[in-house]
Amino acid sequence: MAKTVGPDCRQCRREGCKLFLKGERCTTKKCAFERRPVIPGQHGASRKRVTEYGTQLREKQKVKKAYGILEKQFRRYYEEAERMKGVTGENMLSLIERRLDNVIYRMGIGSSRSECRQIVNHGHITVNGKSVNIASYRVKAGDVIAVKENKKDLEMFKDLKGMKIVMPKWLEFNTETLTGKILDLPKREDIDLNIKEHLIIELYSR
Ligand code: SF4
Repeated sequence: MAKTVGPDCRQCRREGCKLFLKGERCTTKKCAFERRPVIPGQHGASRKRVTEYGTQLREKQKVKKAYGILEKQFRRYYEEAERMKGVTGENMLSLIERRLDNVIYRMGIGSSRSECRQIVNHGHITVNGKSVNIASYRVKAGDVIAVKENKKDLEMFKDLKGMKIVMPKWLEFNTETLTGKILDLPKREDIDLNIKEHLIIELYSR
């Protein structure tokens, strides 16, 4: 996982929204952002003035932190999105959403993106029958994603059996066979992050 400074929950409070970095805890009353939704630090609650640049920067940081992406790689997503047809911001989010670590997070195989990144890095996942251990691997429509046959009995995957998982409509995942499919490419409306991506594009266009 890309390194961020400070504990996960502090990152959410800094960005002013839930980034869902701590798995199941994020949906419980223990969520630090739910309990104290202010910027951390002595003067956090009283900080008011934010410049245009600051607003754009914060929007970018939100996406980077939520997906665990470093600046260099994030910029590459932007540059690629800019070369594509369509709306650059939406293209960029769609490219990021197609990362393998995010896909298995959306399928519910792990409870956070950082956990899913580890699952991929440890070689537990196959794409179209071939082992893939690159978290940033980009899936395409029709790809079959599965937990490796000889890893299905690991404790972390056993718990998934029979679970009902709510996932975006561009994905499907069978919790009995631990196999899923990319039904379509993600569109902007499929991405449930509260992001104003046009602000990120404005920042990079400066
Ligand atoms: Fe953010 Fe709440 Fe999850 Fe902590 S528990 S990472 S504050 S969403």
